[in-house]
Amino acid sequence: MKLRVATVWLGGCSGCHMSFLDLDEFLIELADLIELVYSPVMDVKEFPGNVDVCLIEGAVCNEDNLEILHKIRARTKVLVSFGDCAVTGNVPAIRNQLGAGSTENVLQRAYVDSAQDNPRVPKADGIVPQLLARVTPVHEAVHVEYFLPGCPPPAASIKALMVQVLSGTTPKLEGTQLKFG
Ligand code: SF4
Repeated sequence: MKLRVATVWLGGCSGCHMSFLDLDEFLIELADLIELVYSPVMDVKEFPGNVDVCLIEGAVCNEDNLEILHKIRARTKVLVSFGDCAVTGNVPAIRNQLGAGSTENVLQRAYVDSAQDNPRVPKADGIVPQLLARVTPVHEAVHVEYFLPGCPPPAASIKALMVQVLSGTTPKLEGTQLKFG
């Protein structure tokens, strides 16, 4: 039976997913071995149940991130923090240095100070998710089985992870990082 695999994009730049696509011809091999059930590269609206492995790109920045993350955790056997934003907070967590007023500062900068036309922060429901007061790495919100660092993780590391997962061997942990070999 094929492994049911998902990939998710939270508060990140999509660079980790680009690195996944850098697997090049290995993607063709993967296609025979896994069933991709949810990902930004496909059009599935609802995170499915009974997922074996989910790679999570990006930090937890807003209420929407948090909501789907809890859903993913409940429906997935193995979560992988995929890339430095997921592992440490990285770039999105820079705003934490602004302290308690970080959410207002970020919205002001993005929608008012940098706007060429119609400078105002969108207020309607469903337009801009409520930002969390503090950006966190994924493991501060839910339990994570494995960490795959890098900005982005090199395709070779992603391949090594997928080979080990597919072979049924458990990737070795060293500190908070995956160690291969
Ligand atoms: S870890 Fe780097 S490449 Fe990946 S989402 Fe964050 S900034 Fe982008």
